[in-house]
Amino acid sequence: MLNERMVALGTQRSVIRELFEFGKQRAAEIGAENVFDFSIGNPSVPSPDAVNETAIRLIKEMDPVVLHGYTSAQGDAGVRQMIADSINSRFGTSYGADSLYVTVGAAAALCCCLNGLCNPGDEVIVFAPYFPEYKVFIEGAGASMKLIPADIEAFQIDFKAFEEAISSKTKAVIVNSPNNPSGAVYSEATIQKLAQILDAKSAEYGQPIYLITDEPYREIAFGGTVVPFIPKYYANTLVCYSWSKSLSLPGERLGYILVPDRVSEHDLVYAAIAGAGRSLGYVNAPGLFQRVCAMCADMTSDISVYETNKDILMKGLTDLGFHVVEPGGTFYMFPRTLEADDVAFCEKAKEYNLLLVPGVGFGCPGHTRISYCVQTETVKRSLDAFEKLAKAYR
Ligand code: PLP
Repeated sequence: MLNERMVALGTQRSVIRELFEFGKQRAAEIGAENVFDFSIGNPSVPSPDAVNETAIRLIKEMDPVVLHGYTSAQGDAGVRQMIADSINSRFGTSYGADSLYVTVGAAAALCCCLNGLCNPGDEVIVFAPYFPEYKVFIEGAGASMKLIPADIEAFQIDFKAFEEAISSKTKAVIVNSPNNPSGAVYSEATIQKLAQILDAKSAEYGQPIYLITDEPYREIAFGGTVVPFIPKYYANTLVCYSWSKSLSLPGERLGYILVPDRVSEHDLVYAAIAGAGRSLGYVNAPGLFQRVCAMCADMTSDISVYETNKDILMKGLTDLGFHVVEPGGTFYMFPRTLEADDVAFCEKAKEYNLLLVPGVGFGCPGHTRISYCVQTETVKRSLDAFEKLAKAYR
């Protein structure tokens, strides 16, 4: 008998994958330029030239036995120090290599944190709208997910619901800012209030509640929006970072966990994360790209196109009567759908060759995710299709 949970996970097709297949089929029928595929969060801009140049230089110059050999399970020590130096220079901290664990993207970073922290019966709090894989990761760690309904006015946090949800079973809280799918960035006031509640509740229950921050979109913030560095506000924060979006490298699978020095019982928590990495087989992230990412850690791709696209869509959609909370970052926005049933709305959108993801999968029905990491030309041309869609509801 196979593991039924795994069979189910491996067989269910994601809505996004289905849309992707539909898009390919429509493109063959009517031409790719007439399909507005806003379904997938794959960066549309290339990595900075320095990424390929660094990779080529390392291949040419480094001893291949070292370059292609095993690194330490937690990542090459020099790489971890370079990442620490980059964080320190940006946030005025003084972390060392021993606070970093290099991972196969943010996905593995989250899994290592969750598996390292959770025991059976523990609960992990997540705020809607949320990245759907959180549920898979949390349940994979033997814990259960407790979902806080969305604050649909601003996509910040409904603190009343949050406080009521915390109990002695709460092991951790996951936050994702800038947020997939809403594009919202948590304000400093939101982070301060979150930290204050977590401090009070940790004291009340006599055990730490960890804050896991999932930050693949940290660098993609618009118009001077400040993305607070959360470990400064709450001691028991574990940061999960990834270069998938900032350096447009999702296929290379590189990220890290930062376990700040202030985390209580730092060395034990780090050991638990390393143990989880070992038990999951998530050791030694790819060696070449560990080095490339560390050497390019202070750079980003030219992410300005995402803000251009956001501005065009914000204006176009609000003019058409859509209700949209303006994103502070990422390459997503999350407007309300023009009928309560977001799945039916996205089906209707397909009639106009607009591929949009229903909000229900993000725990927030009545909304749809638009992933605008596409060519600006595509965004501009899509407005006509959005107009036809809006008209169908008048
Ligand atoms: N977290 C969020 C919110 C994401 O949107 C993604 C990817 O889209 C991930 C985590 C996983 O990122 P990675 O490619 O680094 O594993």
